Amino acid sequence: MKIVLRSLALLVLTFAGTACQGTNLYSVQDDVAMGAAAFDEVKAAESLIYSGPAYEQVQRVTSRVVAAAVEIDPEVSNRFAWEVVLIDDDDMVNAFCLPGGKMAIYTGILPVAGSDDGLAVVIGHEIAHATCRHGTQRVTQSVLTEIGIEIFTENAELSTDQEERELATILAEVGLGLPFSRDHELEADRVGLFYMAAAGYDPREAIGFWQRMSAGGGGAPPEWLSTHPSDSTRIRKIRGILPEVLPVYQAAQISDS
Ligand SMILES: [Zn+2]
Repeated sequence: MKIVLRSLALLVLTFAGTACQGTNLYSVQDDVAMGAAAFDEVKAAESLIYSGPAYEQVQRVTSRVVAAAVEIDPEVSNRFAWEVVLIDDDDMVNAFCLPGGKMAIYTGILPVAGSDDGLAVVIGHEIAHATCRHGTQRVTQSVLTEIGIEIFTENAELSTDQEERELATILAEVGLGLPFSRDHELEADRVGLFYMAAAGYDPREAIGFWQRMSAGGGGAPPEWLSTHPSDSTRIRKIRGILPEVLPVYQAAQISDS
């Protein structure tokens, strides 16, 4: 009964806050297939960490925030094969999520994240990119541009499963090579705050996290920052969302006690 009440409270409190916008020509199954293919390439190319405190922290926070996303947005989230890897690269202050829920965290972002709450800011944001399906929205946008149309027409005659998979991979690469739009970033911030709060992580930590990200960017801006909105805009927007999100965090706290 307690779990049912908690779920109801979370659904009511998060209903409007986690709604995503945008056009998508692809199915949820396309997200899963594209993300899995690209994730295999990531795993082959990068040096991954499979044990130790940092690995355990990333797995622990991810599983809690994913569980909240599945509770809030089950139609999409339940069909994803959620997975996170930790990439051993202290110089990369970065994280990303491919379509279908395949995530990567670079060790370089962990000192900036600090606590589990800080890391939940990053992971909530990435999970939101996946559940809002920003990757295939972006591919959709590129398909509708000149480059996308060229690649699409070159491959439009293909019909076998293998060829369709190749087409999906090519289109995914076109889309995945582009930064998310500012609107996608702010949407991922907002939805991610709801997910982390529902998982019992303090959403107010997002302010400190983005201030630390900003302070750390003395030289060349980290990749994650360079494709994201300016810190002052982002922090101002997050402050505006906190009054909606804090009741979610409080509901999650009560149900934990
Ligand atoms: Zn992002």
